[in-house]
Amino acid sequence: MDKEQKAIERLKTASEMSFEVYNKPLLITYSGGKDSDLLLLLADRSGIPYEVNHSHTTVDAPQTVYHVREKFKQLEDKGINCFIDYPYYKGKRTNMYDLIVQKKFPPTRLIRYCCEVLKEHSGDGRFICTGVRWAESRRRKDTRGIYEDFSPNRINNVILTNDNDDTRRLTESCFKRKKMVCNPIIDWETSEVYDYLEESHIKLNPLYSMGFSRVGCVGCPMVQRYHYRDFSFFPKYRDLYVKAFDKMLVARREAGLTESKFSLPWESGEDVMRWWIGYDHAQLTFDDLTEKAGY
Ligand code: SF4
Repeated sequence: MDKEQKAIERLKTASEMSFEVYNKPLLITYSGGKDSDLLLLLADRSGIPYEVNHSHTTVDAPQTVYHVREKFKQLEDKGINCFIDYPYYKGKRTNMYDLIVQKKFPPTRLIRYCCEVLKEHSGDGRFICTGVRWAESRRRKDTRGIYEDFSPNRINNVILTNDNDDTRRLTESCFKRKKMVCNPIIDWETSEVYDYLEESHIKLNPLYSMGFSRVGCVGCPMVQRYHYRDFSFFPKYRDLYVKAFDKMLVARREAGLTESKFSLPWESGEDVMRWWIGYDHAQLTFDDLTEKAGY
């Protein structure tokens, strides 16, 4: 079976399980990137009923915001239910900049609180499909599967990594799952994604033609090597981060988290930005970071 057919079979299986477990159609998570464009195309070609959501991270590039709007308009014209999840923290609407002030420390590779708040609650209580692919990172190859069941008790999580695994295991235990996941294109190579989309005449997010190979949050700490590139394309986002860092320093002082106490030479938001983008990074351990963050 070729990869297109395999992905379509996975979507059909996930769709059946979605109705069986949640009595709701499959939820396709759409980021505005090429992988989620492929996922939408395959969902359409599979003939299954589905809904689409997008997590508004508040630090998406304008090109992504417009691309998502355009795609949602096309889908809604075909009668497909689309919705945007906005982030909440402690019961109130939030955004990346507000979170930085509330958390009193910039998000880092080790303390990714932004992902937890801005993205990870999306699709709770549903069977979702994502465009995760093994080719994107070695870590994904080791930790992600075709079907995933995230139970309230992590010990009971089930990750199935091949199509011959018994997918019924995902639906057989009786406790209510927080979220079930299918990654139908997990085994597609990057070139296969581009080729398939090109052959199908799918318009991509304009960020790709600007030289971006991935679409994500501007200034994401997980891809620190791209901070300079991100901020040279989007200098207003840099300004907003610096303003948030200024407010964060005030919040830290008010909370008694003074720089002298934590030995961080931060006098201004610009100092924090320099540290954050790695210009004068100290070699901090996880314990250092959590202590400095006041966790
Ligand atoms: S900035 Fe990076 S770590 Fe934070 S929400 Fe976005 S993708 Fe996740």
